[in-house]
This record gives sequence, structure tokens and C-alpha cells, in this order.
Amino acid sequence: MGKTFLVTGGAGFIGSAVVRELIANTEHRVVNVDKLTYAGNLESLDGVADNPRYAFLQADIGDAQAMHQAFARYQPDVVMHLAAESHVDRSIDGPAEFIQTNVVGTSVLLEAARGYWKALQEGAPQRAAAFRFHHISTDEVYGDLEGPEGFFTETTPYAPSSPYSASKAGSDHLVRAWQRTFGLPALITNCSNNYGPYHFPEKLIPLMILNGLAGKPLPVYGDGQQIRDWLYVEDHARALIKVATEGQVGETYNIGGHNEKTNLEVVQTLCDLLQEQRPKTSGHYRDLITFVADRPGHDLRYAIDAGKIERDLGWRPQETFETGLRKTVQWYLANEGWWKRVQDGSYQGQRLGMGA
Ligand code: NAD
Repeated sequence: MGKTFLVTGGAGFIGSAVVRELIANTEHRVVNVDKLTYAGNLESLDGVADNPRYAFLQADIGDAQAMHQAFARYQPDVVMHLAAESHVDRSIDGPAEFIQTNVVGTSVLLEAARGYWKALQEGAPQRAAAFRFHHISTDEVYGDLEGPEGFFTETTPYAPSSPYSASKAGSDHLVRAWQRTFGLPALITNCSNNYGPYHFPEKLIPLMILNGLAGKPLPVYGDGQQIRDWLYVEDHARALIKVATEGQVGETYNIGGHNEKTNLEVVQTLCDLLQEQRPKTSGHYRDLITFVADRPGHDLRYAIDAGKIERDLGWRPQETFETGLRKTVQWYLANEGWWKRVQDGSYQGQRLGMGA
């Protein structure tokens, strides 16, 4: 018998991959709770929208009444909390929304979950014992690594650099406190950079693909030597479902792809894939690479030790960076309609029947 998963942020990049995976490859039911900010996109869920195991609720995680009602109505067995403001550059331009959703919103959701779970303890103790609150976070909470050696482990001290990572660190601390103080059966995952289909075109990889196709400059921060560890989004979705269903309460699991690349290497590889898949008539996509002023507080290197989730839960990524990036470029080339609607903002109104 499948369980009911309440997924927050299920219309976002990673959340939609989790929802698609749950519907396609499990028997679980999914309630997607999403505010539909600029980053939420219901077109990424077209393939599951009519499935009887899927429901959508447009709501803000910071709205206490709406969250209490969602728990009462859908009676979830598992919460997977992905709703967040997620773009570092936007957090530098305007931190307030990040604190509101990532910190305050998470505290509201935790309180709604705690109230629901306490009621379960009285009325349905077996369901209460099996209840899980899984908080999805980032490796950026650890700050950056100095030099080319070493990895973030689950015990690395938190040292966030940007308003985004500081707000995510704050939410992680809240979840840990609700687990330690109130006994809420919670788990946390911290993952490296994701890439893949339906990625909002403000992030590095889709931005470079779409700028390249439009013949626009490919802006690389600083000297492009910042190192990130990249994971294909569907590998992340499979890891998250494993943690939510098999992970140990109170534990943190780091998730990473064993793919450390400099930003410049990523952009150059994308240029080469574009040149192969859609050759430029004159010159090469690499000619479009332009170095721009570095982002303030830019972390130099992130690298994840994903040994714990591999040892304890038997998860490993299925895609290499090369196979995942090739799939991603092919997806963007085949889905021009999707990203054009995202870019001009026409997708949401259409899907909600509100007019463009
Ligand atoms: P995203 O920006 O693509 O999606 C966020 C989703 O949350 C959107 O659908 C948006 O509408 C929704 N949302 C925002 N504020 C909300 C609110 N107040 N109430 C309800 N819904 C709201 O983000 P993503 O890249 O899919 O990231 C999902 C989670 O994973 C985030 O918590 C992020 O910190 C974490 N994460 C992301 C990455 C990455 O590389 N993208 C890596 C590690 C961890």
C-alpha cells in the first residue's frame, strides 16, 4: 500500500523531479503544495497532472492556516520539504524574501507538522511512529573549502556565505531543533549543485545553453575557477526518496555526484556539446564566453563526501557528468516551447486557467 507524500515546492526544478519520480516509479500518492512563485512551473508536471495519485494545492508555506488545513485534509505519512527561494544572486539583491520563505516558512511548516503528528500520536500511534519530515537543503550551508583537498561531511561546521545559504542554514537548525526538542521524526539532506530538465533559465547551466543558442555572451563570474560538485536532478530525486523512506530519524545525509568541475570547465563542455548538436555556422560557442565581475562572497570550492548515503542506504548516482550534461542539452534543444514560455512568463496563467 502506498503512502501519502506532501511535497512542498513540487512545481520547482528539483521538487517536480521528485513528484514525477514518485508517480512514475512508486505506488505512493503525492500532494504538491506550492505557492507558484516565478520559479514554480506546473508545465513540468503535465505528465502527472491527471494521475489519480496526484493532487495540487496552491499555498504559501508561511501561511499557518493553509498549512494546518493541508495536513488535516491530506493526512500525509511523509513530508518532503523543498519549497524555498533558491537563487543566490536574488538573495543578494533582496534577502527579505529568503528569510521569509526559507526561515519563517520552514518554522510555520514545522509547527503545522508537529500539531498534526501530536494528534496522530493520540489517535493513530503506529502512523505517528512511521511519520517522517524530510528537509531538503544544500551543501552551501558549509561555506567553502580552502584549496583543492577535502570534502564536506555531515559533521562539517556550518559557515554559510550568502543570504541564501544563511537562510537555508537557519532552516536546517530549526528542523534539527524540532527533532531534538519535540521529537518530531525529521531527517535532513544537504546536496550539491543540481542540473537537468526543467531548470529555471537563471541558473548557470540553462542560462549558458539558452544564451548560447541565442548567440548572446556567456557570462562567467571572475576567472571561472570556482569549483562545484554537480549532480543530475533525477539522481537527486531518487536519493531523496530513499532517504525519506529508508533514512534514520535524526540523521543528516550529504548527497553529491563525485563531479567536481570549475565553472569554466562546465561552460566549455556545454559549448562543445552545443557545437556538436547544433553547430554554429560561423565560429564556435566558446567564442561567446565573457568574464564578468565576480559575485560578492563567492565561495571558491564545494565538494561533497557522499559516503554515508552510499554505505547506509545503497544509493549511487546513475549518471556521470558527461551523460547527464548531454541529456540536459538534448532536453533544452527538444523543449524550446517550454523555456520560451518560462522566459516570457506565459506558462503559469495558461496552466491555471487564469489567462495569459
Ligand atoms: P526552485 O527555485 O526551482 O523551486 C522552488 C519551488 O518552491 C518553486 O516551485 C516555488 O514556487 C516554491 N516556493 C517558493 N516559495 C514558496 C512558498 N513560500 N510556499 C510554497 N512554495 C514556495 O528550487 P530548486 O532548485 O528546485 O530547489 C529545491 C530545494 O532544494 C530548495 O530548498 C533548495 O535550497 C534545495 N537545493 C537546491 C539545489 C540546486 O542545485 N538547485 C541543490 C541543493 C539543494
